[in-house]
Amino acid sequence: MNRILLIAVIVLLALLPALPATPEFWITHLNYVGLSALVVLGLILLTGVGGMTSFGQAAFVGIGAYTTAWMTTALGSSPWLALAAGILVTVVISYILGAITLRLSGHYLPLGTIAWSLSLYYLFGNLGFLGQYDGIAGIAALNVFGFSLGSGRHMYYLIWAVLLLAMWATRNLLDSRPGRAIRALRGTGGMAESFGVNMATYKTIVFVYAAVLASISGWLYAHMQRAVSPSPFGLNYSIEYLFMAVVGGAGSVWGAVLGSGLILTLKDQLQNVLPALLGTTANFELIVFGVLMVLVLQYARDGVWHILVTWWSVLTGVVETRRVEPPPVARALPQRARPEKGTHVLEVDAIRKEFGGLVAVNDISFTLKAGEIMGLIGPNGAGKSTTFNLITGVTPATRGVVRFLDKRLDGLPSRKIADLGVGRTFQHVQLLPGMTVIENVALGAHLRSKVGVLSALLHVERREEAELLHEAAKQLQRVGLGDYLYEQAGNLALGQQRIVEIARALAADPVLLLLDEPAAGLRYKEKQALAGVLDQLREEGMSILLVEHDMDFVMNLTDHIVVMDFGTKLAEGTPEVIQRDPAVLEAYLGGVDDELDETVGVSAPALGASV
Ligand code: ADP
Ligand code: MG
Repeated sequence: MNRILLIAVIVLLALLPALPATPEFWITHLNYVGLSALVVLGLILLTGVGGMTSFGQAAFVGIGAYTTAWMTTALGSSPWLALAAGILVTVVISYILGAITLRLSGHYLPLGTIAWSLSLYYLFGNLGFLGQYDGIAGIAALNVFGFSLGSGRHMYYLIWAVLLLAMWATRNLLDSRPGRAIRALRGTGGMAESFGVNMATYKTIVFVYAAVLASISGWLYAHMQRAVSPSPFGLNYSIEYLFMAVVGGAGSVWGAVLGSGLILTLKDQLQNVLPALLGTTANFELIVFGVLMVLVLQYARDGVWHILVTWWSVLTGVVETRRVEPPPVARALPQRARPEKGTHVLEVDAIRKEFGGLVAVNDISFTLKAGEIMGLIGPNGAGKSTTFNLITGVTPATRGVVRFLDKRLDGLPSRKIADLGVGRTFQHVQLLPGMTVIENVALGAHLRSKVGVLSALLHVERREEAELLHEAAKQLQRVGLGDYLYEQAGNLALGQQRIVEIARALAADPVLLLLDEPAAGLRYKEKQALAGVLDQLREEGMSILLVEHDMDFVMNLTDHIVVMDFGTKLAEGTPEVIQRDPAVLEAYLGGVDDELDETVGVSAPALGASV
């Protein structure tokens, strides 16, 4: 958000309750908006950014509220101790719940959270010491530095201070190493894992974080309301929070405030207007909400905040982009030791992959030395990309052995393989289109830093963050994209996006680089530049395995070529040998127009017939 606008909003928020003219109703309303926004903020991270849907957030609010209600009334504890206890209970429960449900894909998480939401609601309602459906009353007001927060006007300051702090911390988190990993959770095809991101861990972290925000909201609620009962922690409220997150929008932490504000105001108005209009006191606002939800999902997928930002930029002519720039100097990241030129870096021994009855990779073997570029060529469907996936652990092999330096790779998860020094690009570009180019590349350097969530939340990792961003900028300059650092990755041409993927792989400081069709979609000049970069990497001792359809590119650049067809190795040798190999010539190169590129697949039937 624009800095001046931000200050104006904060000043306005601070002044409102101080003005005696502000009606009490407004203060109460804003208190509820603040409390909801805290819960919704967690959902924005969990659902909006991370792609996980939870119908259980109100139950976490309940845990925070009931913990403090019970501890302060029955045990006479301090509310601050109760806050800590509530957070602890929430962390433990959400961690266990997350560990069970998050690794299940599809609808298991929403279903699991619904079950959990319902059972906790009935638990609150049936436990004798929690007052059953009557709840617990007589909760004391909070006391901050001897100052009682008994009135709504005073509670207001605490609620909004906590909310703004949480928004600041959440925003910090998103602009950091763990934040990039969280933003990559939505990506498919194992991209993030290929750069060492443990998706299961980060999913759990986000789930616990969102639960803790909800729990803190519950603690504030209990001390504002001075009484708790089960109903505000039921499934309806969880759905309402989710609705607020969808309406507000996932693009910004301000979506949380906007979503809660809009929905609570609307609900209030509908509860006033509808009964008068329809002559009944039934809950018709739920129906209106349902209709609205459909409309929002149909016409404003990114939420209302996104629409406001778009209008604002049309109005002012200024396009607001989040531009996280590193400071001008930073320490260079440490580099991995490179193997001596000529050392065997990769040994693939009879690897095989069967997809049901289809043998995609049929006992393929080859060796790649340090400082060598090897080409893996063959028509579409030959099994090249599958071979890449077997080496990098994205797909498990049916059998066979892959050795990297002195380690076995087969059987390892892809993030462990990345950690050993294997970097890759994907045939189907897997960037995060909404993230800037430099952030996408910094994700590649994930394993070169240890920055955790806590230091990211507090923004005390700026030095390490600067090192990561500098590394990303350096790699982007190296591949010739230095002018596009702050462009959204999705705005680049497809060919350039492939080059960004190379920079991202290089940011991981790999010993072995696997490039799947890097030159596809590039113009002649760009191909030449790319060849120059790869040549230089080879000079530095990098080993490169290259899948490419442009025969000029492959023949001029590689030291060694393996030709595959229908999963089987057809030929192997230097480019000169391959070019003269009668089988390859006749069946493959000879059958295709010079401008091979994407058209190579055309030759597949001819080749198939001759084998
Ligand atoms: P290339 O990269 O050489 O064009 P691929 O490795 O992508 O070829 O595919 C080799 C064969 O394996 C193709 O017939 C393809 O349809 C099949 N294949 C690839 N991935 C899968 C998968 N996940 N499930 C089933 N079949 C697959
Ligand atoms: Mg392929």
